Amino acid sequence: MSKRPIRSIKGTQDILPDQSFRWQALESIIRDTMDKYNYHEIRTPAFENTALFLHSVGEETDIVSKEMYSWEDQGGENLTLKPELTAPVARSFIQNNLGGLNPINKLYYIDSLFRRERPQKGRYRQFHQFGIEAFGSEFPEIDVEVIALAMSTFKNLELNGLTLELNSIGSKDCRDNFRKAIKEYLKPNFDKLSETSQTRFNKNPLRILDTKSPDEKRLLKDGPKISDYWTSDDKNHFNEVCELLDKINIKFELSPNLVRGLDYYTRTTFEVTSNLLGAQNAICGGGRYDGLVEQLGGKPTPGIGFAAGMERLLLADQRNFEPTKSQIYIVGLGDSVRSLIVNLAEELRKNNFRTNFDVLRRSIKSQMRDANKLDAQYVIIIGEEELSKNIATIKDLSSGDQKEIPFESILNHIKSLPLK
Ligand code: AMP
Repeated sequence: MSKRPIRSIKGTQDILPDQSFRWQALESIIRDTMDKYNYHEIRTPAFENTALFLHSVGEETDIVSKEMYSWEDQGGENLTLKPELTAPVARSFIQNNLGGLNPINKLYYIDSLFRRERPQKGRYRQFHQFGIEAFGSEFPEIDVEVIALAMSTFKNLELNGLTLELNSIGSKDCRDNFRKAIKEYLKPNFDKLSETSQTRFNKNPLRILDTKSPDEKRLLKDGPKISDYWTSDDKNHFNEVCELLDKINIKFELSPNLVRGLDYYTRTTFEVTSNLLGAQNAICGGGRYDGLVEQLGGKPTPGIGFAAGMERLLLADQRNFEPTKSQIYIVGLGDSVRSLIVNLAEELRKNNFRTNFDVLRRSIKSQMRDANKLDAQYVIIIGEEELSKNIATIKDLSSGDQKEIPFESILNHIKSLPLK
């Protein structure tokens, strides 16, 4: 009786070689762009103490209340696979005293995240984000640099149809006053609110602005606006962010209801969406979180960052490019040529030629078929006859031209070829 093979977990994906080259290309563009802006990579562990997320992301969020992969380990510790990266990076920033070493820290990551969401196109239970966290500056220049870095990465990926939405949720005083105002405004309609919004009304009214319900959106449209509650410093900060974005030609739309519900978020919030994606059209979300480091027990330190979903970037990426191919394929026949071929392949690889040879001891005909299938540019053929004459036949697979070359000149001959 044959066993039923074990399958992967729902909402997770294998990235096979026909896709992994696209991931590598994406990662390389991200790293190049980070380099230009002088952001440095930080790598944090795959799991953390559950308390880290309870104290930062917040117990009333969907992530913490419904989506975390948490467990108690054999030593009784409560652990969680990271569902987001800002808290782990802030934890590491505090633990390693990065703020004491440098007044400004510009960090980036490319990492896997885990959330038990309902899987669908563009939404997975293990997914990947790249993102940045810049700690140390409260000034609008860094807000603009962070946004410019996101937009510049997307530009380098040649993504079209993107919209950047921008808002400011002000400082703590602004939000306290706005919270009162929005509750006052919604109170007469409390019974008409969805269950989620009713819970948010009591726990975190700001998050009602995140509603997806068209009725509630309509209701909110005529309600109080957070911008009416900005302090003059909030207003100046936001105006400066907008002016600097104009100056560097980054287009944005003002989005008065774009909020982040947690207390440590302050001022600038932004989101980038793509019109090439369906329901899951958010590519990147970011904002300022001046209260986070202090909330996690560090010295008060302003910070701002964003996270962008890599699966969604790849879904929106319409570039048509191909993985690198083999340049040389060595076709051989007979027991006596085997060691020669292994040796020649190694020599070519040491000289940086992408080289393949047959390891299935197939006929010449099927080796040639394999070379064509792999899109090799040249084959080197060494059969018993070539061996007896100390020569190899080198064939250009695109033109069909072939030449006989003495063994000792193979490497030099290959070096002289117009290889791609
Ligand atoms: P967030 O950390 O929720 O602000 O999300 C930032 C970005 O990560 C989003 O704009 C998406 O592009 C991406 N993202 C969030 N959740 C998922 C998911 N479950 N699957 C794939 N991508 C996601």
